Amino acid sequence: MTSSLPEIVRVDSTRRQRTLARRVDVSGFGFWTSRDVVFSFLPADDDAGVRFFRVDLPNSEPIPALVANRIRKPRQTSLVVGDAQVDMIEHVLAALRGAGIDNCDVLVDAPEAPGLDGSCAPFLEAFLEAGVVEQTRERARLKVVFPGRFGDDSAFIDFLPSAPPTVDSNENADFNASNDSSENSAYDFGSPCYEYRLIYDVPRSIPNQRAQFEFTPETFRREIAPARTFLTFEEASYLREQGICDRVGPRDVLVFGPDGPIENRLRFENECARHKILDMFGDFALAPVDWDGEFRACKTGHQQNADALAKALEIAR
Ligand SMILES: [Zn+2]
Repeated sequence: MTSSLPEIVRVDSTRRQRTLARRVDVSGFGFWTSRDVVFSFLPADDDAGVRFFRVDLPNSEPIPALVANRIRKPRQTSLVVGDAQVDMIEHVLAALRGAGIDNCDVLVDAPEAPGLDGSCAPFLEAFLEAGVVEQTRERARLKVVFPGRFGDDSAFIDFLPSAPPTVDSNENADFNASNDSSENSAYDFGSPCYEYRLIYDVPRSIPNQRAQFEFTPETFRREIAPARTFLTFEEASYLREQGICDRVGPRDVLVFGPDGPIENRLRFENECARHKILDMFGDFALAPVDWDGEFRACKTGHQQNADALAKALEIAR
């Protein structure tokens, strides 16, 4: 694999934007803050994107779900605009993207998203039950046309074309508008393929594992959305000692001891690697575009996902 950067081009949209058919509320408590919270998801206009509104902070600004608004915070994806912050939104974003929802106003009454069962399935099922409607404008789309890598040997994401690279990599696909004249109303993710290789340094209680999926809405719903977040017993103990996450137990998230999950059962043999794909998919939703490409990650986390996305947007032409 080359260590140079990939080539990414903007291509014509193949689908129209979508939003929720009606308001839907999801409530629970934040894993980090232990606070009760209600996230209310409302339909939004074309090109609005996903925006969070801290209704508990009067006069606070909306928080667009854009990588530029992301701040560094360990083990989660957090956004800040002015005095308004919202944390742990990666699973929310994954579920919105998984449901094909591009535009959504999210009213939140606490700083952290509900953790629910540690996966994004409860959000996704709520969205699908509420229904999703097609809008007028087309969704922007990026296509990987030549492979490259973001990151370094310790943690990286390879971006690859879905198909063999075009002979002329300077070709601007925007000029191929006539090829995409069909009005494809069916929702699709583009044709992304996601892979994650999870490798822990020894000693480890979480076995090395890999997951790879070609995404369709159904694949996402069945194979990725139910995969839960996880941590080691040592990590959980440390957080407890810090006095955070004290409302979360091993039945809520996967806590790995020497003999596997404590007081819990895996939903998939490689559930952790699948969850890492869920996180990457959610973090990549911090850009209002569909992707055409393959994304193969190794040992990455939220920060590397965001760094790769920001750089990819920067070099896309
Ligand atoms: Zn996660």
